[in-house]
Amino acid sequence: MLACVRSAVVLGIEALPVMVEVETSNGMPHFHLVGLAGSAVAEAQVRVLAAVRNCGVKLPSKRVVVNLAPADLRKDGAGLDVPIAVALLAASHELPPAALEGIQFLGELSLSGEVRPVRGVLPVAMAARRAGARALVVPEANGHEAAVVEGLTVHAVRHVAQIVAWARGESPLPPLPEAPPPPPSPPPLDLSDVVGQEVAKRALEVAAAGGHNLLLFGPPGSGKTMLARRLPGLLPPLDFDEAIEATVVHSVAGLTRHRGLLAERPFRAPHHSISDAGLVGGSSPPRPGEVSLAHHGVLFLDELPEFRRHVLESLRQPTEDGEVTLARAARSITYPARFALVAAMNPCPCGHHGDLTRRCRCTSVELLKYRRRVSGPLLDRIDLHVDVPAVPPAALGTAGSGPSSAEVRARVARVRALSVARGGEGRVNARLRGALFRRHCAPDAAARRLLLACMERLGLSARAHDKVLRVARTIADLAGAEAVGEPHVAEAVQYRGLDRPIA
Ligand SMILES: [Zn+2]
Repeated sequence: MLACVRSAVVLGIEALPVMVEVETSNGMPHFHLVGLAGSAVAEAQVRVLAAVRNCGVKLPSKRVVVNLAPADLRKDGAGLDVPIAVALLAASHELPPAALEGIQFLGELSLSGEVRPVRGVLPVAMAARRAGARALVVPEANGHEAAVVEGLTVHAVRHVAQIVAWARGESPLPPLPEAPPPPPSPPPLDLSDVVGQEVAKRALEVAAAGGHNLLLFGPPGSGKTMLARRLPGLLPPLDFDEAIEATVVHSVAGLTRHRGLLAERPFRAPHHSISDAGLVGGSSPPRPGEVSLAHHGVLFLDELPEFRRHVLESLRQPTEDGEVTLARAARSITYPARFALVAAMNPCPCGHHGDLTRRCRCTSVELLKYRRRVSGPLLDRIDLHVDVPAVPPAALGTAGSGPSSAEVRARVARVRALSVARGGEGRVNARLRGALFRRHCAPDAAARRLLLACMERLGLSARAHDKVLRVARTIADLAGAEAVGEPHVAEAVQYRGLDRPIA
């Protein structure tokens, strides 16, 4: 007898439908699996047969053929275990086929028949709803993320025996209640907790408002990480579509177990020993990297010069295009990767260059080599360089000061609304290009004179020129000014510390 069960596999961030067909016939008992199965799928036979046995069903000795269609789509991961088991049970007359109609299944099986969580349940649930599925059965640990999808009936199961009892009409399997998006919450880390560092706090506000990438430059222990961690709380709260997009990436990476929609903008801080595959995605089967896990959030690269050069170079595509494309033999995969970049570095290898209380022991050659490691293409994509000096001992232990994250967030939201009205790619000032750049970032006469003088005196490069003007546009927006004026350019020039020759 033939039985068919619908399921899906995930490729990149997309779920592609898979039809699991199982035919049982008389003949030599044998299990035959065809349809371009990856190694985890090919091993399904062992898990499926043991799981079925352990839920008390004795299958007759028959020849079993499992076909996974379409045949030209490579199937990776163990999520097809449950649909194969269900189709096998139906083909063996253990389950009534009518009870399975229009229902999609997904899940990995243990030998005892437990249903284990899998990656990519959210995109599968979204695809199931689009395809008009009557219901989707998922592992219990993935229930929350599937329940995020409106208009889809989701059943979460712990054991394959629950599916058997339900399909036979022996016991009900109540659907999960739809999970409404979480209410917006106040930022967990507040800017006003940070002692001093007024310039850096202001730069964070400018970065958040204009979508500018930021480099924090200062000795160890000055609070660079503490500052960076407060950037997600300065950005506008995730809207529903952004939350779905960000959660899909986390779902595909297998990071959403027992969790629903992301409520906060992600903050990712990979260690400098990370590989390029870890940072931008890759390996086999492919997984999203840190840049994609930071989608709609913040990517923080501490100790920037310590990252391997080719790893930093792999950031070129995501910082430019907001996505990563991984070339694969069969077909290439694209992961979204639009994030705010915050990098941090010490002023020199020992960390004390420019410190009045500690002596720097680095030679000028070492210093030059260290700074040069971050120059070039990556530094080119960073609009703001900000000094984060050591906190004076007298200030330690005192209370923080300055505006709260909520106040800054409100100002940031106003500037972002202006940028959206201007249009253009990315809808932030940092990405104003071409005609839009010339129209909105043109300085008035006094500002232009100041900028030219600064370029001459501080040795700012020509490529820094446009960056200064984009940052000045954001500063003018924060001040509610129509035109880019002298004070805006003056402040923006301050944030180009690394363009100046080493003191
Ligand atoms: Zn040093």
